[in-house]
Amino acid sequence: MKRRSQTVPCVGSRSIESIRDDFPILRGETGRGIAYLDNAATSHKPAVVIDAVRSYYEEANSNVHRAVHRLATEATRRYEEARKKIAAFIGAPSERSIVFTRGTTESINLVASSWGGEFLEPGDVVLLTEMEHHANIIPWQLLASRTGVELVFLPFDASGRLELDRLAGLWSDRVKLVSMIHVSNVFGTLNDIESVIRFAHDRDAPVLIDAAQSVPHGPIDVAALDVDFLAFSGHKMCGPTGIGVLYAKEELLDAMPPYMGGGEMIRAVWLDRAEWNDIPYKFEAGTPNIAGAVGLGAAVDYLTSIGMSDIQAYERDLCVYAIEALSEIEGVTLYGPPPGDDREAVVSFTVDGVHAHDAAQMLDREGVAVRPGHHCAHPLTRKLGVPATVRASFYLYSTYDEIDRLTAAIEKAKSFFI
Ligand code: PMP
Repeated sequence: MKRRSQTVPCVGSRSIESIRDDFPILRGETGRGIAYLDNAATSHKPAVVIDAVRSYYEEANSNVHRAVHRLATEATRRYEEARKKIAAFIGAPSERSIVFTRGTTESINLVASSWGGEFLEPGDVVLLTEMEHHANIIPWQLLASRTGVELVFLPFDASGRLELDRLAGLWSDRVKLVSMIHVSNVFGTLNDIESVIRFAHDRDAPVLIDAAQSVPHGPIDVAALDVDFLAFSGHKMCGPTGIGVLYAKEELLDAMPPYMGGGEMIRAVWLDRAEWNDIPYKFEAGTPNIAGAVGLGAAVDYLTSIGMSDIQAYERDLCVYAIEALSEIEGVTLYGPPPGDDREAVVSFTVDGVHAHDAAQMLDREGVAVRPGHHCAHPLTRKLGVPATVRASFYLYSTYDEIDRLTAAIEKAKSFFI
């Protein structure tokens, strides 16, 4: 296999060296010492994001929407500017469709609680898949235990792909929503959501997409997809923690009751009743994470300046290289589809005779940061029949050298344990 680490890798027109230079943590001791391959858990932050957060606190700190003084006006401008940038980034027709949340988890809970609580009845079915992250299982289980809604799961096959040909067989007119993961955070599978959305819409069911692992890594266009709800997290896409997004079609948000009550989400309040604010504010009770939103706006600008298609292409090359290199190691079992158009740069594996946690600890000693465990997808790992996998996940600043360090560290771990 050609060791691509000998060439000068680029993302679009930017060399990886110059991209890495954008990230303070990669410039210092930490960056040089650690091959950070835990990007599916969270990404590093470029200086432009850190600067946008700092500049917000230093030059505009105030509460939004509430006052007329100039700091409040500036804070509101930056907050709403971020909403516009995010709408444009995902191809949303209007920023009214962008609700700021704490992340994917909160976005899905919002839909389950508000839309599910209002529109689903006992016996209605929410169709999920067996490869969901807990964030797209538990909110529906909670709803099911409250309302008598039933959950049906589309299985995945031995290659880590969804068995889409079983969708029609699982369908009934009781299915009122499909809620599914776009890119698996364990297998890296890029699911064919286009087909599922068409199938569900032909049967009048809306679709929610958990895009936590897709929006950060490639282009997405919610209007072209005609998706009804889309959830993602800022911290996995160069933005701060504690900020995320729920995109939803305006007519759905208009029809949904509030998720939380409090300031900002109301137009008028009496002692015994209230009128709700317009969307998206109806879903943003209390003081929002203003700095987080501003930081996410800067992250979106940054990713756009590099180019989402170029980021996706580069990560796919890294994925091919990682899978080829890992499959050359005796005793390594890889999970998920082979490299290709339905595969993104998340690689899970086990090493014969070495528990995933021991492997990850050994790798850490070698300066390689990976994640061992069930990756918040218990039903998936249970079906695989393994207690845990090791997961290496990549981003635009990851390098071929880091993959070489990963494989060398695995060989060392093997020789230690076996
Ligand atoms: N869904 C998927 C596919 C994820 O990978 C994650 C993060 N691990 C989540 C949902 C939850 O995201 P957050 O913790 O940012 O809410």
